[in-house]
Amino acid sequence: MANLKWKTPRSKTRSRRAANWKLSPVTTVECSQCHQPKRPHFVCQTCGFYDGRQVIAIKDKHAGHNPG
Ligand SMILES: [Zn+2]
Repeated sequence: MANLKWKTPRSKTRSRRAANWKLSPVTTVECSQCHQPKRPHFVCQTCGFYDGRQVIAIKDKHAGHNPG
């Protein structure tokens, strides 16, 4: 294995790969249905809509479900 000719200078330490592993902040867009922030190209977790239609069922916190 080749040896390093120089050690990393202090000015380059911040741009090393190990120093940039942190995640970037999550990008959000406004949901066209409920206008809440959601991930682009993801189903809205607030209303369950994607591409103008409901694709997942969102459990209502109010729990006012009564049959009949
Ligand atoms: Zn939504």
